[in-house]
Amino acid sequence: MKEVLLYEALEDSKTRCKTCAHNCLIVPGKRGICGVRENRNGKLYALNYGKIVAENVDPIEKKPLFHFLPGSTSYSIATVGCNFRCLFCQNADISQMPRETNIIYGKEKLPEEILKEAVIHKCASISYTYTEPTIFLEYALDIMKPAKIKRIANVFVSNGFMSPEACDELIPVLDAANIDLKSFREEFYRDLCGARLSPVLDAIAKLKKAGVWIEITTLIIPGQNDDPAELRDIARFIVSIGKETPWHVTRFHPAYRMLSAPITPVATLVQAREIGLKEGLEFVYTGNVPGEKGESTYCPSCKALLIERFGFRSNIINLDHGHCGKCGKPIAGVWKF
Ligand code: SF4
Repeated sequence: MKEVLLYEALEDSKTRCKTCAHNCLIVPGKRGICGVRENRNGKLYALNYGKIVAENVDPIEKKPLFHFLPGSTSYSIATVGCNFRCLFCQNADISQMPRETNIIYGKEKLPEEILKEAVIHKCASISYTYTEPTIFLEYALDIMKPAKIKRIANVFVSNGFMSPEACDELIPVLDAANIDLKSFREEFYRDLCGARLSPVLDAIAKLKKAGVWIEITTLIIPGQNDDPAELRDIARFIVSIGKETPWHVTRFHPAYRMLSAPITPVATLVQAREIGLKEGLEFVYTGNVPGEKGESTYCPSCKALLIERFGFRSNIINLDHGHCGKCGKPIAGVWKF
């Protein structure tokens, strides 16, 4: 348990959490929407600090990050809890646990122990992932700061619903982020996630402008966010922050409270990729369909195959110090750290 970094103490012992864009007003004895931040006598505490619920050595491609140290591994951690309640969550057992059971489960681990594991496993980065890392911001920052000194990169896999203040804390130590842009419709964020769209757009733009390497993911759910007009809106937004920003359009598998929704047809993903490329994005990837042509990286100029992928495996074919090995075009990304 640790006192929350970003909050205001208000009259009558109330607190206002400023960690994510919900900005919860929390009265004594109560928790915020995420279920892991509790007001105790007018002070706000992160109950999930240092309580690890998942810990794995993952390929960086699993985040997914395709233009950030390809072929490297990332020490990947999570605590329980999330500030969203997506009905289609793929990790609901850990993300919704505090909210649904009041339990904050996790194995106690100090920040230096996580760092040590990353070094032992020769990981190029540490990823704060699986659940929403914004809700374990204090713990993440206590790992990120020394990691940066040891030249281990820091990666957020996030829903992007963080406050501007949280972005400011993260920017000096965050190297890359994959952020979900789940939809371009407010109703989707409100009805399916219990959140809002505009703070996500603001956080993406802010982190990108600050120089954090950004890739965007949209999980395409049939009948919910697969309308070509909506996909075009998403693509146009990504172009507006930088056409070199990779966009991952990934396949939905029925999960959590949307078990009767259908799996995404491959044709929908292929169409989404075409929409993105047509709108001017340089790199659009189909995801969760191993073996699909759209998993690999091609030069946006001469179309040469640069990085071949199958699932989470990648094989650099024709990339020369961040340039296309055939025509010499610089390829956006972080190729060494
Ligand atoms: S992190 Fe977000 S959801 Fe959790 S208490 Fe703070 S403002 Fe509310």
